[in-house]
Amino acid sequence: MKVLVVGSGGREHALCWKLAQSPLLTKLWCAPGNAGIADSAECVAIAAEAVEDLVAFARANAVDLVVIGPEAPLVAGLADRCREVGIKVFGPSAAAAELEGSKGFMKDVVAKAGIPTAWYGRFRDSDSAKAFIRAKGAPIVVKTDGLAAGKGVVVAMTQAEALDAVDAMMGDKVFGAAGDELVIEEFLEGEECSFFALCDGRTALPLAAAQDHKRVGDGDTGPNTGGMGAYSPTPVVTPKVEAAIIDTCIRPLIATMAELGRPYSGVLFAGIMVTAAGPKLLEYNVRFGDPECQVLMARLESDLLPVLLAGAEGRLDQISLSWRDAVALVVVMAANGYPGTYQKGSVIGGLKAAGAIEGVTVLHAGTALKDGQVIATGGRVLGVTAIGADVAEARERAYRAVDALDWPGGFCRRDIAWRALAR
Ligand code: ATP
Repeated sequence: MKVLVVGSGGREHALCWKLAQSPLLTKLWCAPGNAGIADSAECVAIAAEAVEDLVAFARANAVDLVVIGPEAPLVAGLADRCREVGIKVFGPSAAAAELEGSKGFMKDVVAKAGIPTAWYGRFRDSDSAKAFIRAKGAPIVVKTDGLAAGKGVVVAMTQAEALDAVDAMMGDKVFGAAGDELVIEEFLEGEECSFFALCDGRTALPLAAAQDHKRVGDGDTGPNTGGMGAYSPTPVVTPKVEAAIIDTCIRPLIATMAELGRPYSGVLFAGIMVTAAGPKLLEYNVRFGDPECQVLMARLESDLLPVLLAGAEGRLDQISLSWRDAVALVVVMAANGYPGTYQKGSVIGGLKAAGAIEGVTVLHAGTALKDGQVIATGGRVLGVTAIGADVAEARERAYRAVDALDWPGGFCRRDIAWRALAR
């Protein structure tokens, strides 16, 4: 089979690395890919958002399956265009991807489906938003309806903070049109986790849970990032919690999206708060998390290709998955300065030595080849992924690999999986 993966991050490297192991694969392309992905796939210089160019490439090369990594091409309708021209694709339609694109839409679907979540209100003017905040009191959470690169959420511990957030988002328009509408919701207390499922419009095939680390600094300090590390499985998701997540947050969503005429097909990523009253839904994303995908692919034993093909063909009810009885952990290495301004072009050495450590795979997120050397081109640059019998072993291997790298231009957190180890 000939497969085209769309994207260029650590998530897409993990997908290519896993797909390349399939005996069913005859050719793998990645658009646009990166220096690490080039070891598993032929990189094609087409941007992930260039919908028509990607469709033309897939047609010209008789691609059997397109796998879409990031949200931007999904929201732009790449999956729809593939289906229109008869190319099999794993990824949701633009109408289904609105689950991530509009928090108001997502909350309305969740309410219709009876999924446990924070109570909420949707507001288009600041006076009614403020009246709602005064009536409900703090702590309370204020969110822009639209995408704001993970920054459009204020968890307000006081009423004054919440009222200020309304002024910033609606009055000063600090997030532009994303703040034309606000969602204001209940503050949920608990431990966060992510849960992933593969869907084909009718069936949801549960994958596994993971926990990530959003803040840049050790001890969960400093500004938010795209994710500085992750691990799977996670002790907060016991078998009982997992069953509750699947029954209350995954299956009802798939049924409701089908009823709404927006059948959900692709990866479903549920952001969950595990509260004293059970798991509650925080948000959905319409793709794999990056770096959570790296740890899920490291743990998955089954061949990924027939599974994604079954997803594209609506046959997931015939699939069962097997997992390695192991823990996977990824430490993200970022360029110095990230998530603020950072330098590009520094040379990364020691990749061979790091990758030679037992259980370790170094996945690339923001790299390119220049004069035969791997250089850093992005904020998040590498995902040092390790598998071990338990969290402690996976973590020891991952940090041993980090220390084998020769990259003065980069840094990482030193405490990935601290929550799991603290238990
Ligand atoms: P991202 O996709 O980067 O996770 P986002 O912009 O889609 O972010 P949310 O996931 O809705 O936003 O919120 C970001 C973070 O804010 C959550 O990961 C969680 O830590 C916190 N948060 C969001 N909603 C609540 C809530 N109701 N109660 C407590 N914390 C919340």
